[in-house]
Amino acid sequence: MKLNLQYIQSAVDRSWKNMHAVCAHRKCRNTMLMRSVPQSRVGIRIGDLWYCGVDCFAEAACVRFSVFREGRVIEMPHNPRLSIGLVLLSKGFLTNDQLRFAAAEGQLRGEELELTLARLGLATEKQIATARAAQWGCPVLGQDGVREPIEADIPAILLRTCNAAPLRYSQNGKRLLMGFVYRVEHRLLLALEQITGCRAEPCFITRTEFEEQMGRLSVIPDREVVVEEEPQSPRQMANTVAQFAIEAAARKATFVECRDFLWTRLLGSRRTVDVLFRNPKRCG
Ligand SMILES: [Zn+2]
Repeated sequence: MKLNLQYIQSAVDRSWKNMHAVCAHRKCRNTMLMRSVPQSRVGIRIGDLWYCGVDCFAEAACVRFSVFREGRVIEMPHNPRLSIGLVLLSKGFLTNDQLRFAAAEGQLRGEELELTLARLGLATEKQIATARAAQWGCPVLGQDGVREPIEADIPAILLRTCNAAPLRYSQNGKRLLMGFVYRVEHRLLLALEQITGCRAEPCFITRTEFEEQMGRLSVIPDREVVVEEEPQSPRQMANTVAQFAIEAAARKATFVECRDFLWTRLLGSRRTVDVLFRNPKRCG
């Protein structure tokens, strides 16, 4: 199985090539020239906008990073209506006494109920995953599960941060099934949809299934992942991605925000580069 964007994007690219292009950077000095020779343009695209060269691209990237910084959304934690204990109870995985005992034990030790239940052997990993899925209103990975290797070009650091693994990818249906261990990370699903053009759907998996699946992910050649841990200003970030855009001979760039990261994907004729900037946290 391959999750490779180039195939999906090619149709979009073909239709786009027929459009007349003018550099989207308002202060671009090349506009008149590029207008007169549209067929010879290379440049870099961001969504529907086209930038004639790396300087104009860097300006656009800087604006995007500034917007991300200023408009950083404070994520509202989604709290399922039913507690995990009540779901386990309603599914008959636990008795009232067991739940009460585990709750008291967990409170005593200051640990989460799921941990207590697992430690005491009162609920299996699969039962807990099933209960979480019910809490979030999405499916749990079936017994047959997914045992196939997947070539998914999603940076592993993002997957580990979100405790999520790609499970199945359907190129025809343009659907990507993501397995989550603790909670559905909607920001990740949204980011993947923007980056891959696929519909990303959640389900729940156990911690063991997550680790197994991560072990099956294969590394894609000509793919580079760069993680910038130190805080950078929008201008510095723009310069960094511009540098990588030159090295990769980038033709297309996508900017998304996901959990602790600002993620820029550069699709180039030489290679694809994912640049991840760690987002300085503003809240809890
Ligand atoms: Zn320009």
